[in-house]
Amino acid sequence: MTKVVVSSAIEDGPQWVKILSDARPKWQCRLYNSPDDVEATWLNAATYLVTAGPTPGLLKHLTNLQAIHSIWAGIEHITKQPDYDGKTPIIRMVDEEMTRGMVEYVVGSVLYYHTNRHAFAHSQGQNHWKKQPMRMAYERQVGILGLGVLGTAVAKALKRFDFKVAGWSRAQKQIDGVTSFHGKAGLAALLAQSDILVCLLPRTPETEDILDAQSLEKLPDGACLINAARGEHIVADALLNALDRGKLAHATLDVFRNEPLPATCPFWAHPKITVTPHIASNPRITSCAKTVMKNLDHLVAGKPLHSLPGVVNLTAGY
Ligand code: NAP
Repeated sequence: MTKVVVSSAIEDGPQWVKILSDARPKWQCRLYNSPDDVEATWLNAATYLVTAGPTPGLLKHLTNLQAIHSIWAGIEHITKQPDYDGKTPIIRMVDEEMTRGMVEYVVGSVLYYHTNRHAFAHSQGQNHWKKQPMRMAYERQVGILGLGVLGTAVAKALKRFDFKVAGWSRAQKQIDGVTSFHGKAGLAALLAQSDILVCLLPRTPETEDILDAQSLEKLPDGACLINAARGEHIVADALLNALDRGKLAHATLDVFRNEPLPATCPFWAHPKITVTPHIASNPRITSCAKTVMKNLDHLVAGKPLHSLPGVVNLTAGY
């Protein structure tokens, strides 16, 4: 019997249970938000967990779990739980609509900067008729940190506008027309040539705080930053300092260390920061549920885990 626990305080748990139960009537699906919701014996026999962050204390009851399916692309909300055993396989969300959403968010933000809208918005605030030098996309360098599922899709979309696109990853990549950098030296080279820098890295110990004072200093003067990955990639004081002294012209931030972003955070009122509330690629439940069912069908049929898209390398942490 396929027994699926859905546990997520953030996403719409009841809707997930309904969609999965309606589409897979042979599965047993139960929602877990607190210990009163599901009896321990049922949890002990559960085979899969679908979650955007399990309710604290749940994982220790799931002693027969075969895999965890994250309903987000990032997985730190699972791996950072103290009772995660470090070895239960995790499948993260790789979903066409999620990728489309991210492409639209990043391309829109890049075009905003490319057409100097941030500078015109500033001039307008001062009733100031000030022209800015306008460039063609083929004269503008966009650097992408992370050339995975999302970074690659964004790179290809930007190439369709003829931007000069480069990306940075752990391994060297072959993507038509996109310059690939990797490793420490590669990071410095990518930063040095990025008029617009896009962060699409996963959050791991290696990538936390990667956008610190030293990295930001390597960007061209007047560069713009788009962070649609995780708040932990950015050192807030370094970013504020770089913006205040004009090293960076503007930043678009979709993700934050604390979400919802506290009302006291200086990012809210900063004239050179655009805040969006973690919507860059808001997953659509209908599309993501289809992806989860397809992946779990694959496992229920006894097919190998490693052939699924989105299987997390637990050693690398993404
Ligand atoms: P992915 O396919 O796993 O790609 C990750 C990329 O980062 C890969 O290219 C990887 O290099 C690179 N990378 C990882 N560690 C690195 C390191 N230490 N040095 C250099 N490169 C490194 O992930 P994805 O699906 O594109 O998603 C990326 C992140 O976006 C997610 O983890 C999530 O946090 C965030 N996200 C945000 C939203 C939102 O709404 N704001 C939505 C979805 C996802 P290799 O290719 O060499 O392995």
